[in-house]
Amino acid sequence: MSENKKRIAILGSTGSIGRQALEVITQHSDKFEVEVLTGQNNVALLVEQARQFKPNAVVISNEEHYVALKEGLAGEDIKVFAGDNALASIVEMSTIDLVLTALVGYSGLRPTIRAIEAGKPIALANKETLVVAGALVTQLAREHGVNIYPVDSEHSAIFQCLVGEFHNPIEKIILTASGGPFRGKKADDLINVSRKEALCHPNWSMGDKITIDSASLMNKGLEVIEARWLFGLKADQIEVVVHPQSIIHSMVQFRDGSIKAQLGLPDMRLPIQFALTYPDRLHSAFPRFDFAKYPSLTFESPDLETFRNLALAYDALKRGGNMPCVLNAANEVAVAEFLRDRIGFLEMSDLVEQCLDRMAFIENPTYQDYVDTDRETRAIATGYIKQRT
Ligand code: NAD
Ligand code: MG
Repeated sequence: MSENKKRIAILGSTGSIGRQALEVITQHSDKFEVEVLTGQNNVALLVEQARQFKPNAVVISNEEHYVALKEGLAGEDIKVFAGDNALASIVEMSTIDLVLTALVGYSGLRPTIRAIEAGKPIALANKETLVVAGALVTQLAREHGVNIYPVDSEHSAIFQCLVGEFHNPIEKIILTASGGPFRGKKADDLINVSRKEALCHPNWSMGDKITIDSASLMNKGLEVIEARWLFGLKADQIEVVVHPQSIIHSMVQFRDGSIKAQLGLPDMRLPIQFALTYPDRLHSAFPRFDFAKYPSLTFESPDLETFRNLALAYDALKRGGNMPCVLNAANEVAVAEFLRDRIGFLEMSDLVEQCLDRMAFIENPTYQDYVDTDRETRAIATGYIKQRT
């Protein structure tokens, strides 16, 4: 019965991407089976998901919730594990055919590396993994013959434009950005914006961290770096254009000047599904795009002076080495502090810039160098916040 089904491990199944992936799997239960589910704190949802999808194993990364999870799944034939080490080793299970990485932030790095080393294809939502250690992760993927399928809508769009064109050199790619809730605002307008205002994204409903990143344009910066590694490009081949309607999800320009774009209503279930089913396209019941309802699709250049994060990300990418890892760690601290109302919106960029200035450059980092860079950057960032309060 299940031999032909693709067995999926969803890391971060309780999050926004994880939940939408389970919707896709529900729609195509003849094609997929859930092998592993993981969460960090939301035990109730993890229990509910596990009871519905009957995975082989579940992992709760916060060990304090182990007993509650175990009790919640009493009577079910489901293995229950807890902790970061369990999360990193569960991906090696021989019965997993594909790992969807929907964790948020740096936490995705170790499990993704372990999954690649175990030869598992990756559907990658967790862009921070490629920002932190893109050189290492893509090198390991090559060594182990593992494909990384993008889930991020922009990168999925580019991937979809490239199908049938893999032998053709890319002149450049154009990543579209919605501009977020503060598009058109200047620094003076942004000094006192609240957490609540920043969490109101016009087009997408997502986890808190990426929603703040979208408001500050750091998300686009992380995506530029993600694209560099997924598609083997140089920084100057990656352009960002603000497109507030979020209908064109991104574009590829080939060397003859032809541009291909991928379009549709903003709905993450489509890129998730494509990453799970590539090279096939399966039926979907998602709402269809109606051109008559969008008489104008508009485009503008990003404002790099107000939204300095995007400029900082390009800078980190051009410097290379461990600098994108510094950018990511500083930004994770900045976003967490902003979400606790402890720093202002614009101070997030100050913090990132300080860390990029102060951290020592490592040209060819090892895995341990990334771990150390992440830890040291967080210490500098935390020190900076303490000093100003
Ligand atoms: P989310 O916050 O909604 O969910 C994150 C998931 O990861 C949850 O299951 C949570 O329990 C788990 N998690 C969080 N921190 C963890 C930790 N330290 N250790 C172990 N597990 C942890 O986030 P999301 O919006 O689903 O985003 C997930 C990833 O996908 C991010 O990298 C994000 O940038 C990317 N992404 C999201 C969207 C979207 O629409 N939500 C779109 C494109 C890319
Ligand atoms: Mg995106």
